[in-house]
Amino acid sequence: MYDIAVIGAGIAGCSIARELSRYNVRIILIEKNSDVADGTTKANSAIVHAGYDTKPGTLKARFNAPGAQMYERLCSELDVPYKKTGSLVLAFSLDEMKTIQKLYDQGISNGVSDMEIIGKDKVLEIDSNLSDELVGALYARNAGIVSPWELAIALAENAVENGVNLLLDSEVTNIEKMNGLYRLHMEDKLVEARLVINCAGLYSDKINEMVAAPSFKILPRRGQYNVFDKSLNFVNTVIFQCPSDLGKGVLISPTIHGNTFIGPDAEDIQDRESVQTTMEGISYIWEASARSAKGLKPNAVITAFAGIRARSSTDDFVIGESKEAKGFINVAGIESPGLTAAPAIAIHVADIVKELMGGLGANADFNPARRKVLRFIELSEEDKNILIKQDPRYGRIICRCESITEGEIVDAIHRKAGARSLDGVKKRVRPGSGRCQGGFCGPKVMEILARELGIDIKDVVKNSRKSYILTGETKDKSLYEDVHDFAAASKKI
Ligand SMILES: Cc1cc2nc3c(=O)[nH]c(=O)nc-3n(C[C@H](O)[C@H](O)[C@H](O)COP(=O)(O)OP(=O)(O)OC[C@H]3O[C@@H](n4cnc5c(N)ncnc54)[C@H](O)[C@@H]3O)c2cc1C
Repeated sequence: MYDIAVIGAGIAGCSIARELSRYNVRIILIEKNSDVADGTTKANSAIVHAGYDTKPGTLKARFNAPGAQMYERLCSELDVPYKKTGSLVLAFSLDEMKTIQKLYDQGISNGVSDMEIIGKDKVLEIDSNLSDELVGALYARNAGIVSPWELAIALAENAVENGVNLLLDSEVTNIEKMNGLYRLHMEDKLVEARLVINCAGLYSDKINEMVAAPSFKILPRRGQYNVFDKSLNFVNTVIFQCPSDLGKGVLISPTIHGNTFIGPDAEDIQDRESVQTTMEGISYIWEASARSAKGLKPNAVITAFAGIRARSSTDDFVIGESKEAKGFINVAGIESPGLTAAPAIAIHVADIVKELMGGLGANADFNPARRKVLRFIELSEEDKNILIKQDPRYGRIICRCESITEGEIVDAIHRKAGARSLDGVKKRVRPGSGRCQGGFCGPKVMEILARELGIDIKDVVKNSRKSYILTGETKDKSLYEDVHDFAAASKKI
């Protein structure tokens, strides 16, 4: 029996589980996928928004700027790469400059500091590749970039280190309320808890409807992206255009690991799993980003991806105890700026839990710091040599595009909440994120996974439970037992 069951291990669920692990409560974090951060948290713009574009008075506005302010400390505690790059919202006409002024005023109401409206010359000093046609911009120095999935994984790892139980491959299919407890049914498991926190992202309306009448709907909205090779070192800051009814528009941004990307578009869709990219979507983001900057090269694109926003029919985050189900807390409709707001949402949800449970005692063993991740490429030559002498696996480069060593991959597998799949390793230490997209390193990573997990290489999966990569051997050795040439073997077939 648990005090608290958190459903969904995206950035919301992981932030909340980790925040609650500061207290003396039994917590279980339940995820239907085979890894943490496999929903919307793994496919978004990765921007820590300063907070000027959320409507004052909304929950989005309430949690955005405070969330952004918590990033520096949080990422340093958890050893997650984060960079305060600043952001620019470009204006291409005097009319758009009025929008810039509105965003600035909105930012002031939302408690955003360090913003400035600047003219064309200053904009081009900050980012010289931008269009000559721009008139000015809103410069928000507090915006930043992060790796959303690395942060969610680090939060989950730290939560587990502080006593949270993480249950993967476990889809909640039904919830019953019995004698003041919730019983969460999964295919082959049953979990009981006093409180339930619904962080199920795109499925949060379905989870809510397991205990209450529908009070909001999730309206999926897809966004597509192109990612460029690191050779295209294009912008230093996050480049937005003036927002529209469909959101913040197409942006050009650096990633925390040194790539550039463009996107997203905004397309309302029915299917909550439809993460494919389309010709229309990709063409749109190219057209739109060409307005911000010239010189983006299609031949530098290394991959495309899409993410789906869990937009709520209420047009705001849905956070709080259900009116109909005592002890059932919704953290739903967490679309943008949900990544930014997550640390502040977690503190707010912990306050709700404290109230519902009549206070919480501190977890005396809570440690906010995660064991540091050794990033080989960031070490000095001297430190690299020392490390290789201590552990020769750090001397074997597995991913040549990103310079990732065997030692880093093995560590990613053996950490708490460690990698279990090819994508799990990629999300943690990036082999397969470079120009070859795993073409060279993929098989080697599979061998390491099989060896370290003690499984057959045919059982190594790409991401989910049955996403096998190898279906069998290309040459059945038994055919060659008593014959020694291919012609004879062919006859035997
Ligand atoms: C295109 C796009 C761009 C964005 N850009 C930004 C940005 O730049 N900055 C920003 O701040 N925000 C951004 N966001 C928003 C941000 O990505 C989300 O707010 C955030 O990732 C939502 O996290 P979550 O934990 O609520 O959902 P998710 O990450 O989707 O996690 C929900 C989890 O619940 C699990 N789950 C679902 N049903 C069940 C079940 N029945 N049982 C068990 N588990 C279940 C899912 O598998 C999933 O892992 C963007 C979003 C999109 C789509």
